[in-house]
Amino acid sequence: MREQLEALQKEAQADLSACGSLTALNELKVKYLGKKGPLTAALRGLSGLPAEERPRFGQAVNSVRARIESLLAQKEEEISRKELKERLLREKADITLPGRRPPRGRLHPVTLVMDRIKSIFVRMGFAVREGPEIENDYYNFELLNLPKDHPARDAQDTFYITGEYLLRTHTSPVQARVMRGNEPGAPIRMIAPGKVYRCDYDATHSPMFHQVEGLLVDRDVGLSDLKGTLELFIREMFGPETKVRLRPSYFPFTEPSAEVDISCVICGGQGCRVCKNSGWLEILGSGVVHPRVLEMSGYDSKKMSGFAFGMGVERIAMLVYGIDDLRLFFENDLRFIRQFEREAVL
Ligand SMILES: [Zn+2]
Repeated sequence: MREQLEALQKEAQADLSACGSLTALNELKVKYLGKKGPLTAALRGLSGLPAEERPRFGQAVNSVRARIESLLAQKEEEISRKELKERLLREKADITLPGRRPPRGRLHPVTLVMDRIKSIFVRMGFAVREGPEIENDYYNFELLNLPKDHPARDAQDTFYITGEYLLRTHTSPVQARVMRGNEPGAPIRMIAPGKVYRCDYDATHSPMFHQVEGLLVDRDVGLSDLKGTLELFIREMFGPETKVRLRPSYFPFTEPSAEVDISCVICGGQGCRVCKNSGWLEILGSGVVHPRVLEMSGYDSKKMSGFAFGMGVERIAMLVYGIDDLRLFFENDLRFIRQFEREAVL
């Protein structure tokens, strides 16, 4: 019996020294110390022994059991330490690796062109003024000399919210708001950039688009001031070689009124598909402010006069970047947007 116990202890020692994982260790624990293990069996066998041998044998079994238990505990600690060390090595973070950069956003081409337009006029002393996009009939039409039966007020062209409120169809109401908010008769030099809305959708029209409107009111302001200001703006925007021409036109809020054309930026005036072989491109509407518009906003049209102009920002951006479909601006296709990290230089 004694030899059997010694052999058992040796076998356990050999098993344990070969054991490399906590799972295998648990299996050994069950094998040697479990209810079906040899030590339990040996203790059960005590009853078969002569009474005088029982204590000694019982002691021997318990000491082997204690020995195996201590070996198991030792091994368990050893394996735990080893596994922890391996895990720390495996999960080590290399703090010298560069971080993951989040993708950087870029400015939309319309924003880029809008910023450029603003910067040119700000340098000429124009203030940037803003107004509400939900406007009332009075500011959007009435104060701009557009009578009730004017076709521009048709529900087919304008997004009405109620009978009185609508999405502004141009940035012009900002001019009326500034004139009325000003000290009566004070000179004005402002631009109003912003979103405007019309029921329209095709390759050159979008239901939402951007306008920049300008207004200058002072003493002795006339058509020549308008022409000089716009020529300066156009040459800054499209290059010093650009030719400018004013064509007589009609707007209810200006008199006289003029459409402003520039020599085609694509062909330089030779004639091409973009300018429909005319050599000219229409880029904005303008005129001398109608005396009635001044009077309605509290200005004495005998003492003060002014000029106004308005342009579509998408139209300018299309010319600056050579884009032939306005809808591209609003499709949010990143492949399109990413081309305009920097402004095009003409
Ligand atoms: Zn052309």
